Amino acid sequence: MGVSCTFMGPTLPSAANVGDTVVAQAYQPIIRGYFAVAAAYYAVMSLTHSIELSGVALRQLGSAAIIACIVSAAACHFLRRPQTVVKLELVTSLVNLLVLTNVVVALHIEYSQVKLVYFVMLAMIFAFASVSIRQAIISILTALGGLFWKVAEQEAGELIMYGFVGFAAATSAIAIAYFLRRAISLAVSARQEADEARQYAETRLETAEKISDAMRLQSLSDSLTGLPNRRAFFDALGTCQREMGESGNAWLILLDLDGFKSVNDNHGHIMGDELLKAVSSRLRDYCANDAHGSRVGGDEFSIILASEASSEEVRVWCDTLLEAIAETYLIEDRLIQVSGSIGCYQFPNDEPDAKLIQKADFALLHAKKSGKNRVVLFEDEHAEKAAERFRIEQALRVADFEAEIELVFQPQFDLRLEQFVSAEALARWNSPIIGEIGPDHFIKIAEESGLIAKITVAVVDKAIAALQSWDDPLPVSINLSSNDLISDHIIDLIIQRLRDSELPAELIEFEVTETAMMSDTGRATANLLRLSKLGHSIALDDFGTGYSNFNYLRSLPINKLKVDRSFIENLADPMTEMVLQSLVGMARTLGVHCLLEGVESELDLVVAKRVGAQSVQGFLFGQPSSAQDLHLFISANNFEKIETTSIG
Ligand code: C2E
Ligand code: CA
Ligand code: CA
Repeated sequence: MGVSCTFMGPTLPSAANVGDTVVAQAYQPIIRGYFAVAAAYYAVMSLTHSIELSGVALRQLGSAAIIACIVSAAACHFLRRPQTVVKLELVTSLVNLLVLTNVVVALHIEYSQVKLVYFVMLAMIFAFASVSIRQAIISILTALGGLFWKVAEQEAGELIMYGFVGFAAATSAIAIAYFLRRAISLAVSARQEADEARQYAETRLETAEKISDAMRLQSLSDSLTGLPNRRAFFDALGTCQREMGESGNAWLILLDLDGFKSVNDNHGHIMGDELLKAVSSRLRDYCANDAHGSRVGGDEFSIILASEASSEEVRVWCDTLLEAIAETYLIEDRLIQVSGSIGCYQFPNDEPDAKLIQKADFALLHAKKSGKNRVVLFEDEHAEKAAERFRIEQALRVADFEAEIELVFQPQFDLRLEQFVSAEALARWNSPIIGEIGPDHFIKIAEESGLIAKITVAVVDKAIAALQSWDDPLPVSINLSSNDLISDHIIDLIIQRLRDSELPAELIEFEVTETAMMSDTGRATANLLRLSKLGHSIALDDFGTGYSNFNYLRSLPINKLKVDRSFIENLADPMTEMVLQSLVGMARTLGVHCLLEGVESELDLVVAKRVGAQSVQGFLFGQPSSAQDLHLFISANNFEKIETTSIG
C-alpha cells in the first residue's frame, strides 16, 4: 500500500551538538544591535569632534569616528540576512578594530590616565559582542594589548598594577563571553529541541494518519478489482442518504453479469478473475465522478447514482453501461464476451438499506427472468412476483409429489394415418398450500431450487401407471428438464423405474429442449444416448426457439422434432409459412419425424398439412385430459374421420 509500517522520525538533538552556525544565528541580532549602537555613537562623536576639535586632532579623531560610523552602519546593513560564522567573525573583528582605533587615537591626541578605563570597557563590550569564543579571546586580548601599549608608553612604572587590572579584566571578559555563549547555546538548543520534538511528533502523526488512511482504504476496497467493496458500498449508501435531504432521492443500480459461471467453467477461474477486473475497470471509467460503483459479490456490482435523474434518464444511462460492458474483451489472446442485467430502484432518504436493496434486487431478478441483458426499473409487481416465487419454492420444499402430482395427457395426431398415435404427459401440481398450479409456474422454480428430480420421478411413475391401466396402450412422451439430463443419477433412477415396469421401451418417449442440452452438452448427449439405446424415442421440444444448428442436431440421437407453437401462433405474418416449411424441411433432411405444436384451428391444420408436417398436437385435437378420459376419447375417435374429431 506504499506506506511502510516503521516509524522513521528525526533523532532528537542534545545541547552538545548545537552547531556554531546555529549559535551564530542566535547571536546575529545581538551583534547587529552592537553595530547599530556603534554607528549611532560614532555619528554623534563625529559631530561632537567637529565642534570641539580643530586642526590635526579634528582630522585624525574625526576621520576615525566617521570611518567607524560608516563601517558599523554598513556592517549593520550586511547583517540583515543570516551570515556564516566566519563572515560574522570578520565583520565583528573589523568593527572592534575600528572602535579600538578610536580609543587609541583619542589617547594619542590627549593622554589621560582616566581614559585607560576605556580599554577595560572595550574588553567587556567585545566579550558581549563576539560570535565565538575564539573571536572573543582575540578581541579582548587586542583591547588589553592596547592598554599595555599605552601604559608602557606613558606610565612604565605602573605596569605591574595595570598588569593585574588587565588580567582581571581579561579573565572576567572571557568568562562573560564563555557563559553568555553557553547560556545562548543552551537556550537555542532547548528551542531547537522543542521544535524538532514538535516536528517529530507531527511527522509521526502524519505517518500514523497515512497508515490508517491506507488501512481504511484497504478495508474498503475489493482486493481483486480494486473497486470499492461491499462495506464501502454501505458507507456510500449511508452518506448518500444523509446528504440527499428530506425530500431528495437517488438511484440504486444493481448489475449482475449474465453467464459469468460459464466463463469460469469454459475458460477457467483465472480468466474469470481477469474478466472481472476488466469489467470493473470499464465500470469505474463509466461511473467516473457521476456515480459510486462497487463490487459487492462474485459477479455482482452496486452503483449509487446520487442524482434526481428521471426514470428515462437512468434507463438510458444503464443501457449505455450495458453496451460498454458487452463490448468484446481481449484477455490473454482470447476474445470473451459477457452481457449484464440491471435492476434499478429510486430510493428516498429514509428507507432502510435492506428494503431498498431488496427492491433493486427484485428488479434485477425480473431482468434475469425476462431474458437477461436488460435494464428493469423496480415496480411493485416485481416484489409480488418474487413473493409468489418464494411461496411456490417453500411449498415445493415440503411437497409430497407422489401424492400431489397428477398427469394429464394431450393427444398427438398423425396426419397421414389420420389417427391419434401418441400423447404427451403434462404435469399438474395440486399443492395443499397453494392449490392447483400449472407447470409453467412451478417447473422452473423446481429446477432452480434443485427439486425437479423428485417431480420427474413422480411423473415417470404416474406415466407408467397410466400406461399399465390402458388395455390398448398408446405411446406417451415425458418431458425431461435440463437438470434431469445432466444428472446421471436421475437418469439411473428413470431407467430403473422403466425396467421395473417391464413396459416395452417404444411406449415411452422423452422430450428435451435444446436449451436443456446447452448447460452441459457432453453429459446431456451421453444420457440421451443411454435412453435412446434402450429403445426410447427422443423428441426435440420447442424446436426453432433455440440453437438449431444443423451439425449439432445431427450429432444428437433424435427421432422427432416438435416445432414450437409460437410459429403457428404467428400465421398472420406471411413469413411464417416459409419458416415452418424450412423447419419441416430440416426434419426431413435429418430423417426424423416432424410434429407441429399448437394447432388450434382449422386454418392451422391446413397450414400444417401444406408445410408437410407429419403429425400435430394442439387444442383442435384435444385438450390435455386425465388418463382415463384420454383413453376413452382416443378409442372413440381413432375410428372416425378427422373432421369429426375436432373438439372445441
Ligand atoms: P410443452 O412441453 O411445450 O407442452 C405443451 C404446452 O402447451 C402444454 O402446457 C399444453 O397444455 C400447451 N398446449 C397444447 N396445445 C396447445 C394449443 O393448441 N394452444 C396453446 N395455447 N397451448 C397448447 P402446460 O401443460 O401448461 O405445460 C407447459 C410446459 O411445462 C410444457 O411445455 C413443458 O415444457 C413443461 N412441463 C409440463 N409438464 C412437465 C413435466 O412433467 N416435466 C417437465 N420437466 N416439464 C413439464
Ligand atoms: Ca413438451
Ligand atoms: Ca413444446
